[in-house]
Amino acid sequence: MSAPIIPPAIPPVIRWLGCNNANYRVGRPAGCTPTAIVIHISDGCLSSADSWFNNPHAQVSAHYIVAKSGEIHQYVKEQDTAFHAGAPLHPTWKLLRPGVNANSYTIGIEHEGKAEDVWPEAQYQASAQLVADIARRWWIPLDADHIVLHREIHGDRTCPGFVFDRAKLLAMLAALPQ
Ligand SMILES: [Zn+2]
Repeated sequence: MSAPIIPPAIPPVIRWLGCNNANYRVGRPAGCTPTAIVIHISDGCLSSADSWFNNPHAQVSAHYIVAKSGEIHQYVKEQDTAFHAGAPLHPTWKLLRPGVNANSYTIGIEHEGKAEDVWPEAQYQASAQLVADIARRWWIPLDADHIVLHREIHGDRTCPGFVFDRAKLLAMLAALPQ
């Protein structure tokens, strides 16, 4: 018997930090709105993500990070393009748009930790709450075709690792009040 799925009780508290101008693009290409959410692991701690996304040499960003504690930081507005997924390489994602950079039509969520770390319940809960909020705003379906793993776009990466349980996240999302 697995543990019962307990839906998150409180809406996510999001702390806006922003990031360096070199690490994202204002707006999205014409005709592109977010139609999927990409799950990442940050391969480090919360504070290192905060400082890396503020470094103009990084050339990368994400819209959000969810910490192990459940704390959420936001670096890029959802209507702007974060540099998190990049050009596809050996993709397995069936909704990938050929010839279009996946950053153009996705929202990227980093998660604090190493790929081999077990996610604390608080991190799953906050991630589910954040994903649900984003999905409501952009009419994104809550399924495995729209809650995408980074490695399904970039096949030579393992991100977000093999400990993260997407089925568990989807079950938590399904248990949320509609
Ligand atoms: Zn990633």
